[in-house]
Amino acid sequence: MCFCKSTFNQSNSSLVIITKQLIICQTSEVSYAKQVPMNAYYAVKPDEVLGGGRFGQVHKCAELSSGLTLAAKIIKVRGMKERDEVKNEIGVMNQLNHANLIQLYDAFESRTNLTLIMEYVEGGELFERIIDENYQLTELDAIVFTRQICEGVQYLHQQYILHLDLKPENILCVNSTGNQIKIIDFGLARKYRPREKLKVNFGTPEFLAPEVVNYDFVSFPTDMWSVGVITYMLLSGLSPFMGDNDTETMNNILHANWDFDAEAFENVSEEAKDFISSLLVPAKCRMSASGCMKHSWLNNLEDKAKMYKVRLKSQMRLQRYLAAHRQWKKHFYAVAAANRLKRFQQSRSVSTPN
Ligand code: ATP
Repeated sequence: MCFCKSTFNQSNSSLVIITKQLIICQTSEVSYAKQVPMNAYYAVKPDEVLGGGRFGQVHKCAELSSGLTLAAKIIKVRGMKERDEVKNEIGVMNQLNHANLIQLYDAFESRTNLTLIMEYVEGGELFERIIDENYQLTELDAIVFTRQICEGVQYLHQQYILHLDLKPENILCVNSTGNQIKIIDFGLARKYRPREKLKVNFGTPEFLAPEVVNYDFVSFPTDMWSVGVITYMLLSGLSPFMGDNDTETMNNILHANWDFDAEAFENVSEEAKDFISSLLVPAKCRMSASGCMKHSWLNNLEDKAKMYKVRLKSQMRLQRYLAAHRQWKKHFYAVAAANRLKRFQQSRSVSTPN
């Protein structure tokens, strides 16, 4: 077991719903979840929901012994496969200790749930934060955010871990005033294994790399594609591959059908465009996380602070993008709930004798 309590600092502080299944074996990382009642150690605040996802809800909670505020991701598990998937998430998070990656603090297992107790960050999703009209988003801010994403991904890749679900909603701000971010949601993360294939059933594929859409091998570059898409969006407010429907979006991804919209990139530097152009390319020539850290766009910040003072127009476009995606997510969860009910009713009609 290796929860990093000693090094843990409390923060001072898509809409893409994709379901992925590995064709090849699950990871066997050390995943330790205590099999004792969680409420002996933590008080979960039922009314303080920080977010919801495919598998459950994230609540604010407090450690009873210290009063420390934390986040509890409570995941309902039905069957061994789901349990193993969550244990994979715990196993991956247990290996992580980096300022730009959310830290696991504790984990609990019961008959019906697995609960991840994590460091709490209070700033909300990065894109939600930057659409606030009081926030003046400049290219320098985009550099600061992208640099931190790359630092986090570089660390992950050094540990031979692939995140595989990098998207704007998985980037959180530590607080509502500073620019520090943390990557969350290691639910689909995997230890890198050469020749592992990823099968993907997706709602909308905006952030997927071509090798994922193609059912091809995934590797470190797969995460870097997503970094390219996120950076493109930060700077322009546009989603580079978005088509009128999923098929069109997937075709755009597979055929590298993207460009720099002249109006949206009007005030964006050539260095920034070169950075994105080095990521939205086939996997074998895609820039690595270490390559990103050395790229001129992410360096010499002092000079850039003098140059990049113009407010980016991407803010307005991101507002529209997020509003559309909130609607889409609401619809997705309504359909998912209806399907769950249908499955439940069908299972009852099969098992209930007349
Ligand atoms: P999804 O289905 O979107 O992939 P998920 O079930 O895997 O979601 P997470 O993405 O880990 O769950 O968390 C869901 C939401 O809860 C996040 O988008 C975020 O708003 C909030 N959240 C998660 N972890 C934290 C945290 N440590 N501190 C504060 N809020 C958090």
